[in-house]
Amino acid sequence: MKIGFTTSFPVEVVFAAGHTPIDMNNIFVTGNASDFVEQAEFDGYPRNICSWIKGMYSVALSSGMNAVIGVVEGDCSNTHSLMSTLIDKNIEVISFSFPHTKDRKKLADEIEKLEQYFDVKHAKVLEVKTRLDKIRKKLIRLDKLTWNENKVTGLENHLWLVNSSDFNGDPDDFEKRLDEFIFEAEGRKSIKTDFRFGFLGVPPIITNLYDFLLEHKVNIVFNEIQRQFSMPYLEKDIVDQYLRYTYPYSIFDRLKDIKTEISNRKLDAVLSYSQSFCHRQIDSILIKKYVDIPVLTIEGDQPGDLDARTKLRIESFLDMLKY
Ligand code: SF4
Repeated sequence: MKIGFTTSFPVEVVFAAGHTPIDMNNIFVTGNASDFVEQAEFDGYPRNICSWIKGMYSVALSSGMNAVIGVVEGDCSNTHSLMSTLIDKNIEVISFSFPHTKDRKKLADEIEKLEQYFDVKHAKVLEVKTRLDKIRKKLIRLDKLTWNENKVTGLENHLWLVNSSDFNGDPDDFEKRLDEFIFEAEGRKSIKTDFRFGFLGVPPIITNLYDFLLEHKVNIVFNEIQRQFSMPYLEKDIVDQYLRYTYPYSIFDRLKDIKTEISNRKLDAVLSYSQSFCHRQIDSILIKKYVDIPVLTIEGDQPGDLDARTKLRIESFLDMLKY
């Protein structure tokens, strides 16, 4: 069965049950994103609701999902209403929650609930985790090729890490292509740039951001949330793995990780990205307060290229860093 989901969750359970998990965000943003948004608005979704939610609604309806897992705590409050509109269209919906309190027992119960729903043994789930961790180790190598050896672009890093949320539904094929990519990248010359940036926040809906930055001699060597999707800590226990995953919890968990990586990766500045109409825009207040290198806040709304105003703001920011 094809099981869509709204954001990273213990994907091991779905693989262990023999189904194909599909991150609906990836289908949305790599497909005809504007059409997906338009379709949702045609069905009545308001203009001033985040494009990702509208995109996922249309993807769920048009991509033949057998069921959708909605992360109703720890991601986006809009997911509740998204799920209701999907139920109304006769799509089976399964809820998953990351407890805001980071309560270990509650999270373990959520994983167990999912295992019961899919009728899969915990031992089988752990076997899958061991298999996926082998690939995750290779993603750590890819990330290191980005920030330590400067051989991978920010866009390549973004694409590999963001796709590790579901391994494109086929971990074996994903691993094979990853091996080939790492082999090719290891043979490259280092990318020469003026600045090393971090990208903070949800993955961008803007298509040419990384290319625009590279043209201006900036490489993104830290994709914060995309890296979180790749579960880089390799915790032995599956519950610990999803407790260390910073995205669903408070901004203070994210800040701890961000500050560590700013220092490890020797970043010059960060872009704090947020999506129009997203509650996470409020987190930017604390990012600007606690991150002690230059921060530029940018916002994306509709899928597509960078608008002229944001290009100008980035160029002015770069001028400021230079002089
Ligand atoms: S970008 Fe924000 S509003 Fe949009 S789906 Fe993600 S969390 Fe929700």
